[in-house]
Amino acid sequence: MEKVKIVIAGPRGRMGKEAVHLVLQSETYALVGAVDRKYEGFKVGDLDGFPESDAMIYTDFEKCLQETEPDVLIDLTTPEVGMFHTRTALKYKVRPVVGTTGFSDEDLAELEQLCSEQETGCIIAPNFAVGAVLMMKFSRMAAKYFPDVEIIELHHDQKLDAPSGTAVKTAQMIADVREAKRQGHQDEKETLHGARGADYQGMHIHSVRLPGLIAHQQVMFGADGQTLTIRHDSYHRSSFMSGVKLAVDTVMKMDAFVYGLENIIE
Ligand code: NAP
Repeated sequence: MEKVKIVIAGPRGRMGKEAVHLVLQSETYALVGAVDRKYEGFKVGDLDGFPESDAMIYTDFEKCLQETEPDVLIDLTTPEVGMFHTRTALKYKVRPVVGTTGFSDEDLAELEQLCSEQETGCIIAPNFAVGAVLMMKFSRMAAKYFPDVEIIELHHDQKLDAPSGTAVKTAQMIADVREAKRQGHQDEKETLHGARGADYQGMHIHSVRLPGLIAHQQVMFGADGQTLTIRHDSYHRSSFMSGVKLAVDTVMKMDAFVYGLENIIE
C-alpha cells in the first residue's frame, strides 16, 4: 500500500513537534516536507531533538508543495499563516488537516467554498483530543435530561482567549437540546462582579487559568438529589495526536469540508 505523503507546517511548535513524531512513527505515513519560518535547506532530522528524517524544510510553502507533491498538509501554526497555507493547499488539491485555532466565520466560509470548488477534502478541528469531543457529545446527551448545567474550563495561564473555544462549542451543543432556562436563583445577585462566570443562554461558563495546567474541562449537571460530572483532561499535547491521525485517515477518503472532529466521530 502506498504511504500517505504528508507535509507539516510549524514543525518546531509544541503541537507541530508531536505531529512530526506521529508521522515518523507511522508505517502508513511518509513525511515528505516541513514548512517553517527558518531553516530553509535543512532536513527535519537536522533539528535539535528530532528523530532521523530526510524530509526537507522549506520557507516557501508553494515551492514545498510543488517539489514534494504531498497528499495532506497538517497545519499547526498561527491563524494568519494557517489560513494562507490552507487556502494555498486547496488550490493545489492537497488535503488540509488543520489544528490551528482562531479562524473567523468568514475564513471558514471561504475555505468551505474553495473546498467545494476544488472537490478536495479538508478537516479543520479546533480540538483534536478524541476524549474532549466525546465529553462534548456525552454532555449534549445528558443535557436533554439535566437542563441545569455549569461548565468549568481550566487551561494554562498563557492561553489568550476565554472562555475556550471548546467550552463555547460545548455550550452550543448543549443549547441544541437543552430546554432554555436561566440558571440559579431568579433573584441571585453578584456581590463581586464575574462571580457567576459568563452567561451562555442562561448557563454559566467559568474559566480557570493556572500554570501547570494544559487543557481541562468539567461539565456539571445537577438535579434533585443528584449531580452528574463529565470531565476531560489533556495532560500532554500527545493527547491530540490520535485525533490528528483520525483526521488524516478520514480526509484521504472524502472530498467535503468538515469543521470539528465531532462530525467525524460516530
Ligand atoms: P507554537 O508552539 O507557538 O507553534 C507554532 C509554530 O508555528 C512555531 O514553531 C512557529 O515558529 C511556527 N510558525 C509561525 N509562522 C510560521 C510560518 N510562516 N511558517 C511555518 N511555521 C510558522 O503553538 P502550538 O501550541 O504548537 O499551537 C499551534 C496552533 O495549534 C495554535 O493555533 C493553537 O491554538 C493550536 N492548538 C490546537 C489544538 C487542537 O487540538 N486543534 C491543540 C493545541 C493547540 P516560530 O516559533 O519561529 O514563530
